Amino acid sequence: MEHVAFSVGNEGRQVFWNAEHFEPVLFFFTAIALVIFAYGIYRRWRMWVAIGKPEIRTDRLKERIRSLLMNGLVQWKTFRDPYPGIMHGLIFFGFLVLLFGAAFDATEFHITEPLGWAFLRGTFYLVFSFLMDLFGLAVLIGVLLAIDRRYIQRPDRLGYQGKPDNTPDDAIVLLLLMGIIVTGFIIEALRIHVTNPPWEYWSFVGWLLAKAFVGVDPGTAKILHKVTWWTHTFISLSFIAYIPYSRLMHIITTPANHFMASLQPAGHIEPIRDFENAESFGVGKLEEFTKKQVFDSDACTRCGRCQDGCPAYLSGKPLSPKKLLQDLKTFWLEQAPAAIAAKRAAGCAAAVEGKPVETNLLVKTLDRVDALVDAVVKGATREAAPAEKAMVGEVVDLHELWACTNCLYCQENCSASIEHVPKIVGMRQYKVLTEADFAPELQLTYRNMENNSNPWGIGAHLRADWAKELGIHTLAEDPNVEYLFYVGCSGSFDDRGKKVSAAFAKILKAAGVSFGILGTEEGCCGDSAMRGGNEYLYQTLVQANIEVMKKYNVKKIIATCPHGYNALKKDYPHFGGNFEVWHHTEIIADLIAKGKITLQKPVDGLFAYHDSCFLGRYNEIYDEPRRILKAVPGLRLTEMERNLAKSFCCGAGGGRMWMEEDIGERINDMRTDQAIAAGADRIAVGCPFCLTMLSDGIKDRKKEEGMAALDIAEIVWKAMDLEEEKPPVDVCAAPAS
Ligand code: SF4
Ligand code: SF4
Repeated sequence: MEHVAFSVGNEGRQVFWNAEHFEPVLFFFTAIALVIFAYGIYRRWRMWVAIGKPEIRTDRLKERIRSLLMNGLVQWKTFRDPYPGIMHGLIFFGFLVLLFGAAFDATEFHITEPLGWAFLRGTFYLVFSFLMDLFGLAVLIGVLLAIDRRYIQRPDRLGYQGKPDNTPDDAIVLLLLMGIIVTGFIIEALRIHVTNPPWEYWSFVGWLLAKAFVGVDPGTAKILHKVTWWTHTFISLSFIAYIPYSRLMHIITTPANHFMASLQPAGHIEPIRDFENAESFGVGKLEEFTKKQVFDSDACTRCGRCQDGCPAYLSGKPLSPKKLLQDLKTFWLEQAPAAIAAKRAAGCAAAVEGKPVETNLLVKTLDRVDALVDAVVKGATREAAPAEKAMVGEVVDLHELWACTNCLYCQENCSASIEHVPKIVGMRQYKVLTEADFAPELQLTYRNMENNSNPWGIGAHLRADWAKELGIHTLAEDPNVEYLFYVGCSGSFDDRGKKVSAAFAKILKAAGVSFGILGTEEGCCGDSAMRGGNEYLYQTLVQANIEVMKKYNVKKIIATCPHGYNALKKDYPHFGGNFEVWHHTEIIADLIAKGKITLQKPVDGLFAYHDSCFLGRYNEIYDEPRRILKAVPGLRLTEMERNLAKSFCCGAGGGRMWMEEDIGERINDMRTDQAIAAGADRIAVGCPFCLTMLSDGIKDRKKEEGMAALDIAEIVWKAMDLEEEKPPVDVCAAPAS
């Protein structure tokens, strides 16, 4: 190929310099690499589709493409965590630019230059050269940071219970990446050393590196260049071929997972339909997951972000969301070949019966190649039966399964859009509904819910006693109110919760808000039952509540409990309960903003606001509680280190409120320690479960004298300074020990 001469004003470089005659050999090896790559993808594809129930994740294309662009391309979720985000960003964006650069080179060399148009010339070339070196350097820095992080810093999240979970694959990938960049720079340096064009300082890394070859004669430099060129080529092609067989596969699976991400509200659990006809409930076997749920495990990059804030893991319980995903992946990799073989056998049987079967020659050939590769690589045929293992109980340990608080930290902070919680709830459903095998204390809780519609089993007829002396009407007495105050079980039966209900009701009355309660017609919202796997009980409770609410033509609901709030707002619509649902902090913030209530009495103390999981991560209510607290005179507000979307659970969600916590440290105590570390003497909450857990934490830490947990409604009522002479409740007193 003829190349035009380069000169100042017509700067450029000869693509394939010193390697002009390598083209056919290069194409040959490239083809081999691409075939290995394509075959790997094909094999994986068969595994992806072999196991799991179908699920539509290709609807609402606009939102899916947005998720793909924001998280797959812009890496929004990855950057939420600065150090690993920057590290990954340097590698990802650096490589992306280098890929574009290689495509530019190839386009000019193979297409435009033969047609007489060389566009990599002049200023464009100089800027191009500069960018290629800059982004090449970015990749190198990113790789060095990754090596430092994985092998020197070794943060706990890149392991499990203090042991790193590094695999040879991790090292191979990093070495391949480093090899590509380093050999690329050496090639450039040798070319510059030999050709020495005056503008090559624009390729600043190669130009600087060229100084290392001063004194090397051009002939030797050209030989060195050839050797490095081939080394670079083989490393690059190996990298491509290795993708489907290594952790590099996440280049494909993670963006695909972003595309298929759940578009349901945060924390959504798909209700079990058709109870009457189902033979089993929940997920007891791998094939009872949906295909997307199985695919999740292949999209996991083992980054450990989920583990980093998992209260179960950090408190020493055996659950790690990362490990859970990896265990499921290992199990899937074991099971998939047999599932493929079973499908093939089903096809053969269909052929015998004269039914249509796969006759595609390519598929048949690939099938044979598959079997051969398995036989050679694994020394076994792919039909070999996988080890018999119970998924729930063996692959996923039961302590692991029940340790989850459904706090949603893992899901909200996962950089691969993986949905952990529905898997956990699905497996719990299996244990509860199909096997009836679950903790005795949970059995008692469910019995109490069944008999008295509250977890404590207190007589349902006492549900409205807290309101007796407050002059609050039930909807039976006056249905013509704007809001239903859904009090919930804690607000109705728990002594501390009752104080919160009273404080909030008094705020509403003082503000002139039209509201009523359901009284003894109210039932448990069912959230703990659902998240604890008892979907049947949950649906029974939901139906009963919806029936009563519809009877009174309820349109708007306020809840003081984020669990009830979340269930009413996001889960009840699945059963025909469509209401406008508000949390009491939203209502109070609005009343303050509209001047309907005035906060005049100073409330002393340094308050740390604890973000409840079901208010924060589930419903993104972070601002209103803080706005309220800032409006209270005298109140000083501080933040715990773990806050907002990275807040630490109190330990009560997912049915854990009703279970013993006999492994590891108590989660509520850990959260209390975090408040103590922030220097707070008051913990403000917007959830009765958190209130109980943190009040207990304060007792456990023997801090009752100087510390207390308070609901925002209690703080506001105190600041309103409207308490009667003989207060029915001392709402801001520290809880009795
Ligand atoms: S929901 Fe919370 S407790 Fe459960 S696995 Fe995820 S981070 Fe851990
Ligand atoms: S589940 Fe998500 S956050 Fe956890 S290790 Fe895998 S990719 Fe990372």
